[in-house]
Amino acid sequence: MFLSSGKTTEASRSAADLAGEFARSEKRGEFLLQAAQALLADVREFALDLRELPYAAFKQELAELAEGLGSEERLGRLERLFDARRRGIREFARRQCDCLHARETELKEIIDILTKAMAVIDSENRDYNYSIMEQGRRLEELTHLEDIRRLKQSLLQEVEQLRRAVHEKETRDGAKIQSLAQQVAVLNTELQQARTESERDGLTGVYNRRSFDRFLSDLMAKNTAAGQPITLLMVDIDNFKHLNDSFGHPAGDSVLAAVARKCRQSIRSQDFLARYGGEEFAIILPGAGLRDAVKKGRQICEAISSRRYVLEGADCREPIALSVSIGVSALTAADTPVALIERADKALYFAKACGKNCVRSEKESR
Ligand code: GH3
Ligand code: MG
Ligand code: MG
Repeated sequence: MFLSSGKTTEASRSAADLAGEFARSEKRGEFLLQAAQALLADVREFALDLRELPYAAFKQELAELAEGLGSEERLGRLERLFDARRRGIREFARRQCDCLHARETELKEIIDILTKAMAVIDSENRDYNYSIMEQGRRLEELTHLEDIRRLKQSLLQEVEQLRRAVHEKETRDGAKIQSLAQQVAVLNTELQQARTESERDGLTGVYNRRSFDRFLSDLMAKNTAAGQPITLLMVDIDNFKHLNDSFGHPAGDSVLAAVARKCRQSIRSQDFLARYGGEEFAIILPGAGLRDAVKKGRQICEAISSRRYVLEGADCREPIALSVSIGVSALTAADTPVALIERADKALYFAKACGKNCVRSEKESR
């Protein structure tokens, strides 16, 4: 009787151990899945939307892999999917490096052409100066002529030659300057394009995360003296994953572009709008206090939720409703960019918890 009760206790203890072990592995599995998906999102942030690269297809592949990690039950299939996509990521990264390298080489070549052209002009100027000096010397010799008629004729000839030399030089310089101006214009356009590409998000056209970080830290550094209010809005599209899953990634992309447009239309020219990552946007309002920023957030919520959207690239032609949730924080005297963002994020989570399609400020989420 005693013995059998001891066995039962042991068996139930090992069952409890196993259950505990199982729960821990499950949690670990969940964490690893989220970590892998977050890393895939980071890979997408690093990818550049260059016209030479299949950016849209690449993003689609990343999304499929992220999706597969969460839903594919069969290990063999998951391994094959992972191997194929991993090869794709490496290939894309290699091609992206090649493209950037090719662009740098092109710019270097243009700079080389300009430098050589300057050197040619310099040497031609030296020849020209020499010919003017020669002419001066010949004019000096003329003063030795005693016959006034011969002197006059020679003078006229020299002046004519001088005029011709100046004219030829003008023509040559004109053509050179024109061609240089054209090359400088090409160079300027390329530089402008490269700058825009490095500052902007390829999909929505608004500033990217890198520009956001730079703008915020510059603004905070400048503001130590001025002390004007600065507020931050973190805007996150509601139920976006569901939208992607139901209508496909291209439709999701068109929603991102539409939300970015709506945000842009709702803010002033001195405000700063960036895609912070995934389906999240950040807006900096220099000069606006918390109350005004919350009001602006409500206008954005209203502007987005009050109309219906026809999705591009989706089978469904029915217009759908969209909404965003917004968290707001205001800069304090001893603030850091990280702390300001964290408070806006916390307020955003609170807005989600309050039922979404609404704005919450850091004061409400404390
Ligand atoms: P919530 O309402 O709580 O914000 O939920 P959610 O579904 O919007 O948020 P969640 O973080 O669960 O999902 C975000 C999704 O956004 C997952 C990811 O695949 C998708 N996503 C991120 N970047 C892009 C992109 O560039 N294009 C598309 N189409 N989808 C993207
Ligand atoms: Mg969301
Ligand atoms: Mg989000």
